[in-house]
Amino acid sequence: MSAGAAGDYDVVILGGGSGGYACALRSAELGLSVALVEKGRLGGTCLHQGCIPTKALLHAAEVADVAREGASFGVKTTFESVDMTGVNAYKDGVVGRLYKGLQGLVKAAKIDYVEGAGVLDGPRTVVVGDRRVTGRNLVLATGSYAKSLPGLEIGGRIMTSEQALAIEDVPARVVVLGGGVIGVEFASVFKSFGSEVTIVEALPRLVAAEDEAISKQLERSFRKRKIAFKTGVRFAGATQRGDVVTVSLESGETIDADLLLVAVGRGPVTDGLGYEAAGVAVDRGFVPTDERLRTNVEGVYAVGDIVPGLQLAHRGFAQGIFVAEEIAGLAPAVIEETGIPRVTYCDPEIASVGLTEPQAREKYGDVATYEYNLGGNGKSQILGTQGFVKLVRRVDGPIVGVHMIGARMGEQIGEAQLVVNWEAHPEDVASLIHAHPTQNEALGEAHLALAGKPLHAHA
Ligand SMILES: Cc1cc2nc3c(=O)[nH]c(=O)nc-3n(C[C@H](O)[C@H](O)[C@H](O)COP(=O)(O)OP(=O)(O)OC[C@H]3O[C@@H](n4cnc5c(N)ncnc54)[C@H](O)[C@@H]3O)c2cc1C
Repeated sequence: MSAGAAGDYDVVILGGGSGGYACALRSAELGLSVALVEKGRLGGTCLHQGCIPTKALLHAAEVADVAREGASFGVKTTFESVDMTGVNAYKDGVVGRLYKGLQGLVKAAKIDYVEGAGVLDGPRTVVVGDRRVTGRNLVLATGSYAKSLPGLEIGGRIMTSEQALAIEDVPARVVVLGGGVIGVEFASVFKSFGSEVTIVEALPRLVAAEDEAISKQLERSFRKRKIAFKTGVRFAGATQRGDVVTVSLESGETIDADLLLVAVGRGPVTDGLGYEAAGVAVDRGFVPTDERLRTNVEGVYAVGDIVPGLQLAHRGFAQGIFVAEEIAGLAPAVIEETGIPRVTYCDPEIASVGLTEPQAREKYGDVATYEYNLGGNGKSQILGTQGFVKLVRRVDGPIVGVHMIGARMGEQIGEAQLVVNWEAHPEDVASLIHAHPTQNEALGEAHLALAGKPLHAHA
């Protein structure tokens, strides 16, 4: 047991999700005494209701598509059906193994794991049942929940991602409310599983946070996959009668479905936790911080989804590690939000880092862009995927944005983020050799073209 057993820890962390547990592990590595308070399951949303189970579903979806499409590769396969019991067993198996591994890591690090719901009592103390856990530093990491819309109650056939991850049968017709990351990922899964899918999105395009060229390509691909979507359309209400959910739009149109998935964003979990009473400023539920993740109260930090910005697990990990190092006095480098890679795992996958073209124009004035079509990439042709790599650079300057779409393009984000975060010029990347035939070559070729020496591309 750590030095904290007597009551005073170096670090007390409220919430054991991506942000919280990363902070706990790094703090312990640095020799700090740590208490980690978690009311649910260690690993939080990402492990149990987010990244991991959804990506397992997306992989099962890919297997279903491969079974359907065997003939186009000369392999005689037939697709029979999706057995949700089997899919859920596979998904839960993946989650279970990672959960066990994570519990082992926390135990081995000698972190005091406190089970139960914590509430702040002042800026140094978390109360969990009849226990008071006090620390020199407090890290708030209580994460996020799936939002709904006013008047739209979750229950029955109206679900958020949380319930949709546990369905026992493939619904025949699904309406997905929200064309953001979570919405398009689920739409992709349901379509591959055999559902008829309609996405309803109030904004003018799917994945509206991405560069517009990406949205256009995704919409083309979804049309081809026969995933219906209505953009620029506002939801008016939904009613459940028997086995049917009827979704009405402000246009007067109605759509009947067997499942309505509400994917309209995630709100911060900060209500009723004593944050404001402890003096911590809260803005629309979020906890604002400075660039060193300090709240307005000395010794109190916040990490992960409760901090305004990208709601991504690896951002939470990075912030958790940052805060641990900050507390240990290592003065870590500030995390640049635009340098955080983003992947959407629908089919086709989307991967981006840095600024979109309009963002870059706003920041730097004139910029140069290049779009390398995957039509010229051997491996993409072998896979039968369409898409592109789009680069955005400052005129005669570094690459400030990389935007990619196509099957498996998520795997290319590693190099893309090095390029953006190390402020590489196209000429720097053009001199690096990319293995043939890989999809990674598409990234190399895009840089070759932007450096003025295209190979398998029309300049
Ligand atoms: C469907 C879905 C798919 C996603 N896919 C991806 C993906 O592919 N890639 C990606 O990067 N991100 C993905 N995300 C986002 C990712 O899950 C979150 O960004 C990440 O989990 C945030 O980490 P966090 O630590 O801030 O919060 P959480 O993971 O939400 O953890 C917060 C923890 O705090 C605990 N807690 C809350 N209140 C208390 C309290 N009072 N006392 C004790 N404990 C408390 C909760 O039980 C929870 O375990 C996805 C999210 C969803 C919903």
